Amino acid sequence: MQKADLHIHSTASDGKHAPAEVVKRASARGLSVIALTDHDTYSGYFEARAAGVDAGVHVIAGAEITSDYKGRECHILAYGFDVGNADLKKLLLDQKFRRINRARIMVENLIKLGVDIEFNDVEKIAMNVPISRNHIAGLLVEKKIVNNVKAAFNKYLSNEGPAYYKSEYHSVEDVIGIIGGAGGMSVLAHPGLLYVDEDLDYFARTKLDGIETIHPSHNFDLQRKYEEFAKINDLITTGGSDYHGFKDADDQYLGVVCIDAKKADRLEAFCRERKENITS
Ligand code: AMP
Ligand code: MN
Ligand code: MN
Ligand code: MN
Repeated sequence: MQKADLHIHSTASDGKHAPAEVVKRASARGLSVIALTDHDTYSGYFEARAAGVDAGVHVIAGAEITSDYKGRECHILAYGFDVGNADLKKLLLDQKFRRINRARIMVENLIKLGVDIEFNDVEKIAMNVPISRNHIAGLLVEKKIVNNVKAAFNKYLSNEGPAYYKSEYHSVEDVIGIIGGAGGMSVLAHPGLLYVDEDLDYFARTKLDGIETIHPSHNFDLQRKYEEFAKINDLITTGGSDYHGFKDADDQYLGVVCIDAKKADRLEAFCRERKENITS
C-alpha cells in the first residue's frame, strides 16, 4: 500500500520543521503523498511541493482552518483548493489579523496573571506566520516560566485556561462554503477530540465533504464509528498524524498514522471535478 498523511504542520504555522524538511522526513518514513495543513495558511505549500518533486512525495494543497461552531473553535481541513482563489485568500488574511489580536489579548491576560512577557517576543517567535498558542507556549518555555509546552497549556493556555481568549471566527458553514467555492474539499478535523453524537448530527446537515477518521487521538472504536458515520452521510474519509515535530510521539506517528494513498487520489479527483464545475 502506498501511504498518505493528510494532516501535517510546518514552520508555516506552529510546526518545528520547515516545509522542505517535513517532506524529507515524510519521504524517509515511506509516505508517497502528504498535505501540509498549517493553521489558517497554505504558505508552506509551494516550498513543500518543490521539495516533493525531488523527494518523490506528492504534495496536495492543504490548510487547517479555524471556524466557529456554536461559539466553540472548530478545525476544518481544506484540501485541493485553487491557491489563487481571492475569497480563500481574504479569509486567511482575516484569520491572520484575528490571530494577532487574539495573541495580544492572551499576552495581556498573562501579564495580568503576573507573567513577565512581551508581545514583541511572541511575534519574533512566530516570524510573520499565523500566531498560535504554541508560539506563546514556546516563549513561556524559553523564559523558563514553565518547564514545557504541555505545562504552558495546562497552567495558562488551554481552552479552559486563565489566559485563553477565543476570537470571533467565520462560521463553520461560511468556511465550508469558501473552501468549496475555491474548488477544494472540506473535512472535519479530529472529531474525537471535540464532539459528541449531537454535534455529529449537526455536521451531517452541513455541506461538509468529509471527516477525518484516522488521527492519533482516535482509537479503533472511534475510527469505526466515524467510518460508519461517513458511509451513512456520504462523506469522504481522510487521516493523518497531526505531526508538529516537537513531541516524541509526533515522530512515532509519522508514516504510521496514515491512510491509503488511493484515498488521496480520490480526494484530488473530487477537487478536479469541482473546479471543472465551477469554471463551466
Ligand atoms: P491555536 O491555533 O492558537 O488555537 O492553537 C492550537 C494548537 O495548540 C493546536 O493545534 C495544538 O498544536 C496546540 N494545543 C491546543 N490545545 C493544547 C493542549 N491542551 N495541550 C497541548 N497543545 C495544545
Ligand atoms: Mn497546532
Ligand atoms: Mn486541530
Ligand atoms: Mn492539526
